[in-house]
Amino acid sequence: MQFRDLKRQYEALKPSIDSALLDTAASSAFIMGQPVKKLEAMLAEYVGVKHCITCANGTDALTLALKVWGIKEGDAVFVPDFTFFATAEVVSFEGATPVFVDVDAATFNMDAFSLENAIQKVLEAGNLTPKAIIPVDLFGMPANYLAIRKVADRYGLWVLEDGAQGFGGRMQGRLACGLGDISTTSFFPAKPLGCYGDGGAVFTNNDEWAALADSYRVHGKGAFKYDNVRIGMNSRLDTIQAAVLLPKFEAFKRYELDQVNWAAVNYSTRLKDIVITPQVPQGFYSSWAQYTILVPKGVSRTDLQAALKAQDIPSMVYYPKPMHLQTAYSQLLSDALPCPVTEMLSERVLSLPMHPYITIEEIERVCNAIRTFVNV
Ligand SMILES: *Cc1c(COP(=O)(O)O)cnc(C)c1O
Repeated sequence: MQFRDLKRQYEALKPSIDSALLDTAASSAFIMGQPVKKLEAMLAEYVGVKHCITCANGTDALTLALKVWGIKEGDAVFVPDFTFFATAEVVSFEGATPVFVDVDAATFNMDAFSLENAIQKVLEAGNLTPKAIIPVDLFGMPANYLAIRKVADRYGLWVLEDGAQGFGGRMQGRLACGLGDISTTSFFPAKPLGCYGDGGAVFTNNDEWAALADSYRVHGKGAFKYDNVRIGMNSRLDTIQAAVLLPKFEAFKRYELDQVNWAAVNYSTRLKDIVITPQVPQGFYSSWAQYTILVPKGVSRTDLQAALKAQDIPSMVYYPKPMHLQTAYSQLLSDALPCPVTEMLSERVLSLPMHPYITIEEIERVCNAIRTFVNV
């Protein structure tokens, strides 16, 4: 069994993906070709924002946003303690300081109370200037932007939505990647909408920020590529990746999102009495980048993973280490606030095979294996 079966997806979409690849080769417009512009227009329309600026990967998308806002040394940026490393890494890369915020035990997403505590602590300490918040739409579900926005407004902070895993999710009828002042996503192959290599995008309604992001992604270009008005990056989405994304985006909208939600319901009805199944609060909709359970107290996650593996069932631990315990951040935070929820989650989460092409037989096989192991 595959954890995320990209081969099955390719087989389903083969004619359109093959022609996208061959057409790009024939056009030889490998950089900034027509499919890039087309994809940007389609993604912006879908998300419901004015501008989509594609780039080389989801990490660069976050970096582009921080550059647009001029985030620099001495600035504090609030990120969840429970996330992929890139969310914090980009902050440090700009010379600013990530401040880790605990998450909500039910949704795994940034907790607004912990956020406000962290902001107050930074203000009291007085050595950093709070500038921005980066909520993450973890495992496909948008963070609680209603609660986070209230805190952001109270302290005059920007909200940067890290929607790397969130594309396709919704909150109160609004699409993920349209919930921040700037939002970003990733097209890494295993993300909800993935390409055939690395890719990413920045979304915003702000004309000035969109123009800046477009400049930063091409060496700080001014009126044209060889007029360089600021220090930028080389971070464009390859034409071939945009060409592959076009038919994949159609399938994503037409049935893949429905399919992962169907799979999640089927997992949860079979597992809800055995383990802690993932919660989707009222008004929220997930694109299920991961289906992540909590292993019950007293059950060994390592042994469960081994038992699954013995039956050819892959599983993953996202994430085994809180940000504040990462070696790269060991120097950073002697006076940080504790993040007990993240510490608990990092010991008990387990992600199961999940993708739009999983079958009911596969779901049942995974659930039966878990049931047998947990022995309920
Ligand atoms: C994958 C991911 C990123 C980085 O995306 P890349 O395209 O791999 O650079 C950033 N944040 C989160 C939460 C992610 O899951």
